Amino acid sequence: MIYELVPNELHDEFKAFHHELKKITSQHAESCPFCKKTEFYIIRSKPTKTYRCKGCHKYFTVSTNTPFNRLAPFSWLEMIFTSRIKNISYPNIAKNLQISFEKVMRRERAIINYLQTYYPSLHKWYTQQKQAILIPTLAEQYKTIKVKVTTLTK
Ligand SMILES: [Zn+2]
Repeated sequence: MIYELVPNELHDEFKAFHHELKKITSQHAESCPFCKKTEFYIIRSKPTKTYRCKGCHKYFTVSTNTPFNRLAPFSWLEMIFTSRIKNISYPNIAKNLQISFEKVMRRERAIINYLQTYYPSLHKWYTQQKQAILIPTLAEQYKTIKVKVTTLTK
């Protein structure tokens, strides 16, 4: 159970954020991100559900004005977040989702950015536990680059 991996005092923040990720995944908009009006049309469903506000006439998706803008498919966000809590490494997450390491990192950065704004305690815990894993990964990358550079200069 994922809750067991999160400290008790963070359960409320974790639950709230997890719920938000699920809402983003389902692409269900509740209000216009610009004027907060709750009446809008659906303009198109694919690839991303796009709405148009009846009040201010602006177009939006469920991720407009959030760090998750243009990071569809949104289901990856929840996958990455929960995988990181289970301490699955970034290369393995990329492999599981069959996407590039860069795509995983872009989403990870958006998650961290969002947590920092809305869930500061969860952010602190999430980034600290991540660092223990990230640092060896970076060290590994540095080694690979160094080997490549050394090969080139020979
Ligand atoms: Zn509006």
